[in-house]
Amino acid sequence: MLAEQDRLRTEFQEKQYICPYCGTKGMQYTSACASCGSPETVRTEQYRHAACDHEGMQDQFVDDDGVVCPECEMGLKSLEQLESDAANFCQNCETIFETADHRLRCRDCHLVTQPTRATERILHQYSLTDQGKKWVEEQLTARQLVVETLKDRTLRVEIDTTVTTGSGEEIPVHVHALDELLDDRIIAAVHERPYEREIAHLLTVASEVDAHAILVTTSGTVVGEDIDQLVTDDRLTTLELTKGGALQRNYEIVSDPGTQHSFVGRITDIFKPQTG
Ligand SMILES: [Zn+2]
Ligand SMILES: [Zn+2]
Ligand SMILES: [Zn+2]
Repeated sequence: MLAEQDRLRTEFQEKQYICPYCGTKGMQYTSACASCGSPETVRTEQYRHAACDHEGMQDQFVDDDGVVCPECEMGLKSLEQLESDAANFCQNCETIFETADHRLRCRDCHLVTQPTRATERILHQYSLTDQGKKWVEEQLTARQLVVETLKDRTLRVEIDTTVTTGSGEEIPVHVHALDELLDDRIIAAVHERPYEREIAHLLTVASEVDAHAILVTTSGTVVGEDIDQLVTDDRLTTLELTKGGALQRNYEIVSDPGTQHSFVGRITDIFKPQTG
């Protein structure tokens, strides 16, 4: 989604094959015996004496006396007088064959299977575009403003941390601030366009840990149909990041445009802590 928004550049990295039996990633290519299926095959050369049609491996034509055809016992100057072809030799069943089968082998369970039976997955590497960098900076600026605002009020502030609910569940939050003297708590979330369910989530967490919630919208909008009740909740303060880079109590409610930009805000979690 971020790539579609030109915030991330996509680059093909590699294709990975996943074992159909045990799910291990990164199966390895192996050639295998066309007859018994064993991967214990070696590339070799097969020789043929045109005069008598005898075919065999190199060591069958070479003995102490030089190069001799084992069938018709004709002496030859060198192996070059024989026709030769690339071949494979299976050390398991001792068959010589022309073409080996293409197989994939699992490094973990050692399953050898046809490539078409393995799940293939294309891996991409993503990097931030200029637009993406700007967007991340904006999100981080907003978070930093929240942090500073809370610090100015002498609260102890942590970023990208977790809070623990009454039932012991650890829930990630963008900012957590504690007033140790008054035992007051604030959690804050920064989103480009906070969606209804993100606001609801923030409020649920806030109520679980008995905190006040700050919601920052860096676009100045919050998205949802019937969210008046949510955004006017006593527990919640919604702030917008102004073009001038300040936080102010103002926001606009827009209805869902259909596209789900919602998870985008959470991506800021990837860009790990600045000093808080
Ligand atoms: Zn074999
Ligand atoms: Zn011969
Ligand atoms: Zn496996």
